[in-house]
Amino acid sequence: MDLDGTVYYGKDEVPGACDFIKTCQKKGIRILYVTNRANRPPEEIRDQLRSFKIPCETDDVLTAAQATARYLKKGSAYYIGEEGMRLALEEEGITLNDVNPDYVIVSFDREFNYAKLKKACSLIFKGAKFVASNPDRGLKMEDGISPGTGAIIAAVETGSAVKPLMIGKPEGIIFEMALQKLGMNKNEVIAIGDNVDTDIPAGITAGTRTALILTGISTYEEAMRSPHKATWTVRDFAELSALLEEI
Ligand SMILES: [Mg+2]
Repeated sequence: MDLDGTVYYGKDEVPGACDFIKTCQKKGIRILYVTNRANRPPEEIRDQLRSFKIPCETDDVLTAAQATARYLKKGSAYYIGEEGMRLALEEEGITLNDVNPDYVIVSFDREFNYAKLKKACSLIFKGAKFVASNPDRGLKMEDGISPGTGAIIAAVETGSAVKPLMIGKPEGIIFEMALQKLGMNKNEVIAIGDNVDTDIPAGITAGTRTALILTGISTYEEAMRSPHKATWTVRDFAELSALLEEI
């Protein structure tokens, strides 16, 4: 299950999310939260879910920052990002280097500026491999749609004329890690999310069934126009709960 726009908008819970998750847990359905947001450590996400009275452990969360660091495994990196990315790199033993790193990693960074853009581009020119956590163009917050990591990636991509290796949804890498973490077969898993451009194609690539919930970034019209067809499209958690009863 996705988080932004699916379970919460910033600090606010998406109506019905908590009840839906509790119902799943009662039925013995395991929920793994797979988020493209790379700036928040899993402990912070766990604590926020607990504040909604959703039982959650850090192991129930897989962030694009963790997936990026785990995928790279070793080496050195210069990163554009926040605390969640720094901690994930540290945990994997990837060293920080802003002179001649193996990788330039771009993720969600609310302090992004021209100096960081220039640094990232010059290191890519010097041969560092360009890696990006997730392509989301925006995310739905309490006060509307905020520009996402995709906007920052676009700046680095334009400045360096290099396309990044993408780790997060819609790419399959993060979902393969998720399936491994769950220890489940793709047939046993449903991918739930609010973004028809990321959550749904990631599920399709991984071979799981998919449920698009229209509580967040994607509209009904976008869902209808999209080449990525979810197994189910639901308006809200009431519809998703009804669906779960049927299958
Ligand atoms: Mg989302």
